[in-house]
Amino acid sequence: MVVHFGPCRIELIQGDITQQEVDVIVNAANSKLAGGGGVDGAIHQAAGPTLMQETRMLYPDGCPTGSAVATTAGRLNAKYVFHAVGPIWAGGERNEKKLLASAYSTCLDLAREHRCDSIAFPAISTGVYAYPIDLAAEVSLTTTRDLINQHKTPTLVRFVLFGPGPYGAFARVLEVLAE
Ligand code: ADP
Repeated sequence: MVVHFGPCRIELIQGDITQQEVDVIVNAANSKLAGGGGVDGAIHQAAGPTLMQETRMLYPDGCPTGSAVATTAGRLNAKYVFHAVGPIWAGGERNEKKLLASAYSTCLDLAREHRCDSIAFPAISTGVYAYPIDLAAEVSLTTTRDLINQHKTPTLVRFVLFGPGPYGAFARVLEVLAE
């Protein structure tokens, strides 16, 4: 599914984010940047050891929740990996919405700073961090739509959803935003 917003577009695909050819691949990391399972494990495995070497050297204190940091992309078909730290879902009363929006907006800000025109996101926080997928789709897509409308770049934002459930949740929200 593709929806255009001025010169930019949001794409939804079902698939594996490590296989994308884009300027930036976003990782859903933890605040220690310590490596984990899920999409983080897949990205580090596909990219090779340079990612962990760089995060240890450049960001020894990790990355706060709601923010993101950049490394090169190792063996991935991308220029950079942005390691974004989403919130752990705790019922919705602990600022989760703002923190998730901020994880996405920091990545989109970093993309502009690094002059990157295409970026692929996973559904941050919706795995082990248990953010309800429908609510995550709403926050992720509205934050993205607002920022690309404002800045006209990156021109391609692709959400790579891991399976039909997450894809459907994102597609339902994007259909409404397209109206
Ligand atoms: P978090 O800790 O932020 O919840 P997870 O890695 O547990 O991070 O999950 C985030 C999302 O990424 C989940 O929807 C999960 O299904 C998805 N995911 C896992 N592996 C991949 C992959 N290779 N490509 C894209 N998405 C993935």
